[in-house]
Amino acid sequence: MSKELKITIDGCEMTAQEGRTILEVARENGVHIPTLCYHPRLRNAGSCRVCVVEVEGARALMPACATPVDRDGMVVNTRNERVLAARRMTVELLLASGNHDCPNCASNGHCELQDLAYELEIEHPRFPIQPPDLPFDNSNPMIVRDLNKCVLCGRCVRGCQEVQVNQVIQFGFRGPHTKIVTGGDTDYADSPCVFCGECVQLCPVGAISEKQRMPYGKAFEEKIVRSVCTYCGTGCVVDFHIINGRIVRVTGNEDAEVNRGSLCVKGRFGYDFIHHPDRLTMPLIREGDSFREASWDEALSLVAERLGRIKEEDGPEALAGFSSARCTNEENYLFMKFMRGTLGTQNVDHCARL
Ligand code: SF4
Ligand code: SF4
Ligand code: SF4
Repeated sequence: MSKELKITIDGCEMTAQEGRTILEVARENGVHIPTLCYHPRLRNAGSCRVCVVEVEGARALMPACATPVDRDGMVVNTRNERVLAARRMTVELLLASGNHDCPNCASNGHCELQDLAYELEIEHPRFPIQPPDLPFDNSNPMIVRDLNKCVLCGRCVRGCQEVQVNQVIQFGFRGPHTKIVTGGDTDYADSPCVFCGECVQLCPVGAISEKQRMPYGKAFEEKIVRSVCTYCGTGCVVDFHIINGRIVRVTGNEDAEVNRGSLCVKGRFGYDFIHHPDRLTMPLIREGDSFREASWDEALSLVAERLGRIKEEDGPEALAGFSSARCTNEENYLFMKFMRGTLGTQNVDHCARL
């Protein structure tokens, strides 16, 4: 079992389990340390240097995400001038090495680089701005790439490898020519990508984003509503991002035990049916060979009357009900209670039952 150690962060003494990182201990105790390449669902890369802190006794600044608490009496400073100057230098270099025109970026308001610039009070980088001038990749229907905004944090690479175990995305080329590539520098559609969108969700900036969102507004306009994906019985928890009453993108809920932020291609990108003009939004009642629209009250009264009549004339065993794996557990439970408790039949089944 790991030892409990006493350490001091920004003058406050706190208890830490030996081996926990400085970042984890700081966050558990309400101390803010900014990050960029770090994501709690991924292995630590310790590569961006945004989370550097000063550890007394160490000559260099240390990345908080990759430095374990390893001794009693450790003293850490997270916000002194030396630390802030190093973070500013890193963020200014990132801003200068890309095309970061925030007002014209779909991620405006939902971007960790933008948040860092605000936090560190950077209005303009002190270095000349030299974006890599890479072509905008708009060649598939789900994901767009603008690698001129990429900060090479590697979150997409680790997400594809570690979470989805797909190994589609890599760092390609070397030195100043380094860039993110899919399938040996081809488009997503020509690579082994399964379009799960894990890389889109993990990208902290506007380098990889959802294509369907683009015409409908910016990230800062979004209202988020939590729900459950209805494509299968797994029950992944989703966040609907809504602008002016329209769902503009879907992300996996990072706190949900069932999917921890991940989704499949259907759950993440298959939501255009919701606003499709052909979608049924009113009940239909059959009359001869055709259907007519009806109110919910009329439709439900008709169903109740017909079910009641069948039960009275032929008994409850003449009735059967089939539910669906697309419903939530709660909806399936209620359906089962309705069939057994209200109609009095055991004839109730479900497509996902083995
Ligand atoms: S990626 Fe972030 S910092 Fe860059 S332009 Fe978009 S919002 Fe601004
Ligand atoms: S969409 Fe999924 S499979 Fe495709 S590159 Fe991104 S993480 Fe990998
Ligand atoms: S595309 Fe996004 S997630 Fe991938 S390395 Fe670039 S900034 Fe990071």
